[in-house]
Amino acid sequence: MTTEYRRLRVALLGAGAVGSQVADLLLRHSDELADRAGAALELSGIAVRDINAKRDVDLPAELFTTDAESLIVGSDIVIELMGGIEPARSNMLLALNSGADVVTANKALLATHGPELFEAANQVGASVHYEAAAAGAIPIIRPLRDSLAGDRVVRIMGIVNGTTNYILDRMDTEGADFAEVLADAQRLGYAEADPTADIEGFDAAQKAAILASLAFHTTVSLDAVHREGITQITPSMIEEARAAGFVIKLLAVCERLTADGSESISARVYPALVPRAHPLATVHGANNAVFVEAEAAGSLMFYGAGAGGVQTASAVLGDVVSAARRHVAGGVGVGESTRANLPTVPIGHVVTRYQISLEVSDQAGVLATIASILSDGGVSVATVVQTIESEDDPTARLIIGTHRATEQALSDTVDRLAASDVVDSVVSVLRVEGE
Ligand code: NAP
Repeated sequence: MTTEYRRLRVALLGAGAVGSQVADLLLRHSDELADRAGAALELSGIAVRDINAKRDVDLPAELFTTDAESLIVGSDIVIELMGGIEPARSNMLLALNSGADVVTANKALLATHGPELFEAANQVGASVHYEAAAAGAIPIIRPLRDSLAGDRVVRIMGIVNGTTNYILDRMDTEGADFAEVLADAQRLGYAEADPTADIEGFDAAQKAAILASLAFHTTVSLDAVHREGITQITPSMIEEARAAGFVIKLLAVCERLTADGSESISARVYPALVPRAHPLATVHGANNAVFVEAEAAGSLMFYGAGAGGVQTASAVLGDVVSAARRHVAGGVGVGESTRANLPTVPIGHVVTRYQISLEVSDQAGVLATIASILSDGGVSVATVVQTIESEDDPTARLIIGTHRATEQALSDTVDRLAASDVVDSVVSVLRVEGE
């Protein structure tokens, strides 16, 4: 006996890498999805720019339209997979104001206009679902929002950009050069023709803003996320990291800081040294992982595909089923919790350990001079390794591991080191995370 379900109209905006797979799964698995949602999910149409464009999968031609607005009005659920800011933003607002729930994977839009969209949803009792916006197929939004709702998240460290992890992983495993691996990544489709958003950390910063907002019940704007990319990473930095027992990963770090009884947040994206024994060090290729530390739960790790059309479609469809269940059960959607309203501190207040690599003159008294510059700057030394290329070489490489210090103290000290007569050059300064 087949169950007669109530029908929900689902509008899809976009049929690119993700949207075409979402449409395909919605159509092929309609019976199973109806059983899970408690409602029949009727794909009422797909809005695109070009209805004649070739799609990744065969989809019924009659579903396609260029009139997104007409499709949205009268829908119960709108899936936004166009990407970009406009017209995605206006379409989502139209959907919410028409009483539809919205499902999106659009990290760029959420990181910049999230509060406006969440407020629009609150006003009408609808909800915005965005599991696919932070790490593709990996369930991380729902764990942070629901599973850990009774706990207090202390820190999130995420490898949330597959392109940069692919590049750094190949540099680490093959000793390859950044430019060479980037060209390969572009040829294989792991990196865009314009790779700026990935390699300069913009994509990871958008995800950091989304994760920090959710984890700390605060609105964290994209501007508040400190961002550095991986273009300065060289094979010799990778080699030095390896020798010291680390691997270099581009991390999104979102942290709760407590000082003098008051709390604040830090959100930052930069390449960091991760101990080889840390679970994040084992994330290879274009995979993503998010490591969460919570007061009661302890350490949790979420791992998997951070991108890919069909993989991301899995997360989108999970959200569609959630949205459908709300329509069936009735009641208002769960809004975003921003009540903690914690301030975000500038990068200078962040405290970590560092590894500083210096090219110095190989002469007596150099170490003492450097040690005194560090100690005057409030940066104490934990380890020093000195390497000399050959007996005739007048320079030596000093790799200094520091104890924990503030970014401000460190950057002032590095400026003084760079200006010192005994230092030829500051080769690199990397933070250590995950110890
Ligand atoms: P995509 O391949 O570029 O597809 C975009 C789709 O939106 C296309 O079908 C395009 O229509 C349509 N579109 C764009 N602008 C439009 C407009 N003004 N009016 C009507 N239709 C418009 O994008 P995608 O890779 O599927 O990504 C979609 C979203 O998912 C983005 O927010 C992205 O950040 C996010 N996401 C993607 C991945 C991934 O692995 N790809 C992973 C996680 C999250 P035409 O086809 O006719 O041009």
